[in-house]
Amino acid sequence: MAIYCPFCNASSDEKDFIDNICIDCYIKRNVREQDLNIEIYRCKSCGRVKYKDEFYKEDSAILKSIINSKLEKKGIKIIDIADDSFYAEISSFNSKAYTKLKIVLDYKQTICKRCSLMKSSYYEAIVQIRASVTTTEVIIKRLLRFVNLKGEFVSKIEYLKNGADVYVSSKKIMNEFFANHTKIKPQVSYKFSKYIDGKPFYKNIYLLRYDK
Ligand SMILES: [Zn+2]
Ligand SMILES: [Zn+2]
Repeated sequence: MAIYCPFCNASSDEKDFIDNICIDCYIKRNVREQDLNIEIYRCKSCGRVKYKDEFYKEDSAILKSIINSKLEKKGIKIIDIADDSFYAEISSFNSKAYTKLKIVLDYKQTICKRCSLMKSSYYEAIVQIRASVTTTEVIIKRLLRFVNLKGEFVSKIEYLKNGADVYVSSKKIMNEFFANHTKIKPQVSYKFSKYIDGKPFYKNIYLLRYDK
């Protein structure tokens, strides 16, 4: 049997109801417009968006996570995003209803940690390649592919007469690189950089010699 919305008299034959109120009136009464204004912090350099202190490539899955983290206490869960429309499941004590919601994505500019380090040419490792031009290029290409794939970066490449110095943002990634490329055997040395929380921090230098 149909029930009627006490606020707008709509019939439950025509609309979804939740807590004996039609979905539209339920939303009007429980959700403020500013609740549906979702601030999204986007890195102005790489375009990734922030979700719980990390940055991710912007896609509908990550947008869903960001929006839902802000609306879950309101009983709202976005289940689908299509053509800028947001489809939500609204839950109350015992009932659930589905509706399209007018969500505004309010983009704020920021800069992520990776991009700010990149801008300051941060590096933890130097790979000193001493080889012919061809060999140097091959190694640099492999390095770049590996480092980028791991979400790190090369902050500088200095070309020399007999090779190149490649500055890499993470020494952990460089150790992984050499663990994955066992044919490339570097001579490793460590250069003191600074104290971090009272502990000495070293930059790793990997020397690759092919010129003997
Ligand atoms: Zn109503
Ligand atoms: Zn960025």
